[in-house]
Amino acid sequence: MELHTVKEADLKGKRVLIRVDFNCPVKNGVVTDPTRIKAALPTINYILSEGASLVIMTHFGRPKGEKKPEFSLLPVKNEFEKLLGRPVLLAPDVLGKEVEDMVKALKPGEVLMLENVRFYKEEEKNDPEYAKALASYGDVYVNDAFGTAHRAHASTEGVSHYLPSYAGFLIEKEVKYMAPLLENPEHPFVAIIGGSKVSSKITVLESLAKTCDKIVIGGGMAYTFLKVQGHKIGKSLVEDDFLETASSFLEKAKEKNVEVILPVDHVAAKEFAETAEPVAVDSVDIPDDLMGMDIGPKTVKLITDALKDAKNVVWNGPMGVFEFAQFAKGTEMVAKALADSDAVSVVGGGDSVAAINKFGLADKISHVSTGGGASLEFLEGKTLPGIKALEK
Ligand code: AMP
Repeated sequence: MELHTVKEADLKGKRVLIRVDFNCPVKNGVVTDPTRIKAALPTINYILSEGASLVIMTHFGRPKGEKKPEFSLLPVKNEFEKLLGRPVLLAPDVLGKEVEDMVKALKPGEVLMLENVRFYKEEEKNDPEYAKALASYGDVYVNDAFGTAHRAHASTEGVSHYLPSYAGFLIEKEVKYMAPLLENPEHPFVAIIGGSKVSSKITVLESLAKTCDKIVIGGGMAYTFLKVQGHKIGKSLVEDDFLETASSFLEKAKEKNVEVILPVDHVAAKEFAETAEPVAVDSVDIPDDLMGMDIGPKTVKLITDALKDAKNVVWNGPMGVFEFAQFAKGTEMVAKALADSDAVSVVGGGDSVAAINKFGLADKISHVSTGGGASLEFLEGKTLPGIKALEK
């Protein structure tokens, strides 16, 4: 997969319309975590250094197509201005004469932020007239919002029909690390997939099984697979509607010589509660009165061993109920094993990314994806409309 990237574009004296994901958490009118703003700064600074002016588009929260003041970008603009170190104008709206005049008045090096693109229901409907109006603000379109690339919205896909379109550095990096996993990973390639449900992860399992050598299945979804294999799973999470799906996945993996690694021991509990007492279960089978809450130390060792000679690793989804400290060890150990590995490592999905950040390991991972839903859909092999629009 090859993208048109911002470095190819002639930007001097141009007005660049850029879509970013500045959907940051805000409390009492102040951005509490500016990670997303910081992530887009390299692309933004590059564009400005090339002698262009910038019109910035982002969504913020879910105003559901209405101009609700609590979803105004003012707090985000203030934080962005601080981090950028130059003045940023905030338009009073997305559309209208006043906004058009502000856009026209922009000089090279100047930055204007449109109001929340989701103030109009046309944004999420990918309305062509709305997209055309947005496109009229720029000579060139750059998309650097990977987190919304799986949605065909006016600002993520629609505008690309009317302007020469390029990927920013963030999207370029996402594709650089994620596309080879499905196309031509380095072998051995190990996939580690966790999370609560088979139903939400089966597509990604099937997609990765086409290219990986080993696949680790952990988290709540592992118990449906263990049940299929005839193991006792006690009161663990199970999706009985997906037993057949799980069984046919295991068969297909065997046919393809993909080694499936399932938990061989567990940390269990009598109940699903923050205060639940952890009970070590040193066997695959789980007693009737217990539920599996985390993988045990033998399983962690299996995973660590599988990673030893790996050249490529992808991880999506926690190994246990990591929100409760007593059941977070498995997820923490997998995060550490990934950080220690010499393999090209890619982590996607909100929970695994949160775990990597919580344990301060982000700088030891080759690529930490910036989009939860988008990275899952990418790994499922789906076409992301926002990325397709930038393909060569
Ligand atoms: P997902 O959104 O599908 O990636 O699942 C993430 C959720 O799976 C987290 O909130 C975990 O608490 C949950 N989870 C992981 N392991 C288990 C388990 N053994 N039993 C129940 N829930 C689990």
